[in-house]
Amino acid sequence: MVKILDEILKYLPEEKISDAGFEGANIVLYTKDKDFFLNNERTIKKIVNKIKKRIELRPDPSVCLDMELTKKEINKIITKEANIDNIIFDPQRSIVIIEAEKPGLAIGKGGSNLKNIRKKTLWIPIIKRKPALRSELIENIRAVLYKNSDYRRKFLNKVGEKIYSGWSSSKKEEWIRVSFLGGARQVGRSSIFLQTPESKVLIDCGIDIASEDHAYPYLEAPEFNIKELDAVIISHSHLDHSGFLPYLFKYGYKGPVYCTSPTRDVMSLLQLDVVKIARAEGKEPIYTSEEIKEMVKHTITLDFEEVTDITPDVRITLYNAGHILGSSMVHLHIGNGLHNILYTGDMKFTKSVLLSPASTKFPRLETLMMESTYGGKDNTLPSKRETNNYLKTVIVDTIKRKGKVLLPVLGSGRAQDIIVLIEELYRKKHIGRDISVYIDGMVWDITAIHTAYPEFLNSRIRNQIFHKDNNPFLAEIFKRVGSSKERKQVIEETKPCVILATSGMLVGGPSVEYLKNLGDGKRNSLVFTCYQGQGSLGRRIQRGQRDLTFRKGQKQEIMELKMEVHKLEMSDHADRRELVNFVSRLNPRPRKIIINHGENSRCLDLASSLHKMMRVETQCPRNLDAVRII
Ligand SMILES: [Zn+2]
Repeated sequence: MVKILDEILKYLPEEKISDAGFEGANIVLYTKDKDFFLNNERTIKKIVNKIKKRIELRPDPSVCLDMELTKKEINKIITKEANIDNIIFDPQRSIVIIEAEKPGLAIGKGGSNLKNIRKKTLWIPIIKRKPALRSELIENIRAVLYKNSDYRRKFLNKVGEKIYSGWSSSKKEEWIRVSFLGGARQVGRSSIFLQTPESKVLIDCGIDIASEDHAYPYLEAPEFNIKELDAVIISHSHLDHSGFLPYLFKYGYKGPVYCTSPTRDVMSLLQLDVVKIARAEGKEPIYTSEEIKEMVKHTITLDFEEVTDITPDVRITLYNAGHILGSSMVHLHIGNGLHNILYTGDMKFTKSVLLSPASTKFPRLETLMMESTYGGKDNTLPSKRETNNYLKTVIVDTIKRKGKVLLPVLGSGRAQDIIVLIEELYRKKHIGRDISVYIDGMVWDITAIHTAYPEFLNSRIRNQIFHKDNNPFLAEIFKRVGSSKERKQVIEETKPCVILATSGMLVGGPSVEYLKNLGDGKRNSLVFTCYQGQGSLGRRIQRGQRDLTFRKGQKQEIMELKMEVHKLEMSDHADRRELVNFVSRLNPRPRKIIINHGENSRCLDLASSLHKMMRVETQCPRNLDAVRII
């Protein structure tokens, strides 16, 4: 048995504990003694204070009430208004999962319903929200997890054994080293490899969707060996941070992936789309849905500010990054107080339509690794109000001249901001009720995922969602486009309309389909809503290219782009001012700043400015550079 369990059991009456194990970094004990289970709080708390690890006591599965009777009991305790949708048992862990439309009501005041269920049934209830918009993806992910609960239990135990195997070991020489496998002096294929004497951790594993030749991170770097990898952390779901992750599972990785729940769900959806687009283009996808399923089976989700050990000497906490739903900054506490690193991932430092600004307060911080997408001197974005007015003008004008508005979007992030803004235009009667807003497949699915996790949104939207009549995502002007047949109908429709579709950079996906068909219409408008990567069709159009070639079957076809081209100067990313502002507000102030995730000149520019302003050491590594932190 792992040492730490021996240590814990010393403090407990031996006959009361029937089993002990791990669920990731959490320690789980089982007991057959009903009274001990219901009245253990002080005993367990004492041990937690001593060991400083999370410990949970559960009833032994053999003493739990029969499942059918438990179901009846749950339906008696929880009011009908909570709208229970599903009750699922995980018998080996004595856990019952209750999916409800109104989790607050299901939990009861101060958790009273949960306490009651524990007492009456000896099951541990966990409440999950049923999304207001049906999400097939969330249903599938939950099904994969429930179906593989036996495998999950063994997997989580193994993860825990590995984390605690180095527990209380004698002090070794300490060092920290990070290698940049992608996303250094570039936007795309973000991947950072962190090494300490006891850990090998990969932070992000993205693809560069705009690049054909250099799309993947440098996993062939000599220091990287997939067999030795202990853990992966994903900051957020965008493909330039998560798109290559299933590939690791294809090549034998079986360890944990840490991220927030919305990140797990949205990245699965985006990765499934990578497979779909490759197949549609007649290419062999780099991985299949099987590997995405493997990834889901190995993902451990964390809430913001939930602290967890991931290896013997690395403890992580995810903080809100303000970029997209579930996007996080990763705080790494290394070597029992030796050093603290914050990796921002992609971030935003103003309150957006949907999210709160990135966090700035940390228990400790010595090294900051930050993005610089808009880090150049003159990369300032106009105010939210200016952009909203611009969007409004383009939509209203285009509709007036009976045109269609095409908004290529990233799927996650700006798309949902725009949906909320359009709903406002409609509510304030700037556009008529007869105007449809078409939301193409994946954007719709991601919007549905937003309705499952309102706790990750800012307070304004959260309040709107909790009062269903005001949930902007449920407005009736929004119509789902789910198939190519429906897409054709939208294209052929004579009435003006608004269309949101992926990809945001016009690299494959339905947005390109719409462009092919609407591009030569003078009355139509094309509105870019996100950063256009180097090499993408979007970037070429932005630069003025108007003769576009598309492949139609075996033939190449040329189209002259006649639709109005607009660019929404609005971003999920912090602009130059926000980035500087963020650093100056950081508490505590870092001693060293490493800049990545930006074009070459922007990285260098931000690094030199921050160095002058803050008098801290700054660095701009290139891909394949390794930096020794300590
Ligand atoms: Zn991003």
